[in-house]
Amino acid sequence: MTEPIRVAFVSLGCAKNLVDSEKMLGQLAESGCAITADEDDAHVMVINTCGFLSASREEAVGVISDAVALKERGTLRRVVVAGCLVQRDGESLLERVPGIDALVGVNNRDDIVRAVTDAAAGATPASAKIATAAGAGIPSPAGARIPSRTGSRGIPIPRASAARRAERDSRETGDENGFSSQPSETGDENGFSSQHDSSQQDSSQQVDTYLGDYHPYINLDTARLRITPRHYAYLRISEGCNQKCTFCTIPSIRGPMHCKPPETVLAEARELVSDGAVELNLIGQDTTSYGEDIGYTPGLAGLLRELDRVDGAEWIRLMYVYPSVFTDAMIDAIAECERIVKYIDIPLQHINDRVLKAMHRRVTRAQTETLLGKLRDRIPGVSIRTTLIAGFPGETDAEFAELVSFVREFGFDALGVFAYSQEPETPAGRMKHQLPESLKRERVDALMLAQQEVAFARAESFVGRTFEVLIDGPHAKAEVGNGRGAAARQPARHAGQAPEVDSLTYLRGAKQRSGSFCTVRCTARSGYDLIAVPTRHALTVVA
Ligand code: SF4
Repeated sequence: MTEPIRVAFVSLGCAKNLVDSEKMLGQLAESGCAITADEDDAHVMVINTCGFLSASREEAVGVISDAVALKERGTLRRVVVAGCLVQRDGESLLERVPGIDALVGVNNRDDIVRAVTDAAAGATPASAKIATAAGAGIPSPAGARIPSRTGSRGIPIPRASAARRAERDSRETGDENGFSSQPSETGDENGFSSQHDSSQQDSSQQVDTYLGDYHPYINLDTARLRITPRHYAYLRISEGCNQKCTFCTIPSIRGPMHCKPPETVLAEARELVSDGAVELNLIGQDTTSYGEDIGYTPGLAGLLRELDRVDGAEWIRLMYVYPSVFTDAMIDAIAECERIVKYIDIPLQHINDRVLKAMHRRVTRAQTETLLGKLRDRIPGVSIRTTLIAGFPGETDAEFAELVSFVREFGFDALGVFAYSQEPETPAGRMKHQLPESLKRERVDALMLAQQEVAFARAESFVGRTFEVLIDGPHAKAEVGNGRGAAARQPARHAGQAPEVDSLTYLRGAKQRSGSFCTVRCTARSGYDLIAVPTRHALTVVA
């Protein structure tokens, strides 16, 4: 029996990229590759990169450079780089990081097996040819769902990108949508031009390049090898974006919006539920515009009502909505559907009218306030999260002060702030009056400080209340005692806390099963987080 190719996988960036990573892992496992968490034991390393913030790009280049260094030291044979940075920079990436063996753009995600096996063929030991599925020990008939569980096959937890780390540090969620640019017309519905080149990066090394213009690859997000905890999953409903925010590079990387047909979304939802997910987080660059490009007139509201009927999907959470196209029908659907959690992630970016216009956000302060008011009036108990940009070109002291006041007055349940990142290929990147980095940093800190007061007060308001949480993991030592040191706690979230980006509810007392729901009473606040105990009738002691 031939030895399977062992693949180590690093996933950087946002939840959309994470879905691509899970799909690639599924394809690699199905092809017979063995996925390993041990970089030192791998034949091939795949790095799925993020490319829209300069900090994200720097981080990706660092990870790629480390992989190339590992290859030069011995066991690793090949380095395959995929994702947004490849789509953005193409072969020019080879000049920054010599030693890459294959490049796979976002539209060529499904070429990953070819990229890994082509790459491996030239340099793996003779015995390490691609193995059969049986050889890899993973039963995987074509098209079959690959049962998955975090870590069950030693799959590494994805490294958080710089942007995501910043979000977590600040208890903010980032709008990975939040940065960047001039959309470019990349899509031709039928024009999948999968370009596969082999180029020389120096006199001795061949590079396999998979860089196509467009492909509706997201329609095939099934059969993923998931790396989130089993009980929650990301469900991508669309990819790309038709908005033209002047700071954003996403449309030039991911192309115009392309939506999954509703029946495809529903089939994927059922697959994720059958794989153990009880929480589905709906993602896309602009989820509010769902259905536009495929002529699905019920739109997001219709999709939410359909998803509400999927048995086993207990929490369905809507992320990345765009304010100017948020309709009353969508608000009604969120309010009326039992399983749609009363939580809205609505990146606003700014509140000052002049800045909003310069950002090309197609919405004014007055319209934003009307929408936010409606959300609070018509969806009782709704949690609202937003993302803001500090230091946009030309942002004056007064405009920034208006933003700070707005944050204090409105009282978001969660908020993420990013320093404006100048991207040369975007309209905003070419604007005059770019602000110094130090001032942007100062403004980020000021906004976070304003939000901290709001968030602490909101957390305090939970003390004494009883509510349902979803258990996120096993007991672990956690610093949750306001200086009282680490204690064993079990991480959980109530419906107003999204995974990975929001605060947590830590449970004291009897252990609960990960992925189960439990009724708890909040006993204290610790910073942004809550401390709670299971109510008496909810006690479910597990081994
Ligand atoms: S809505 Fe704006 S910020 Fe968000 S992905 Fe689209 S262009 Fe970028």
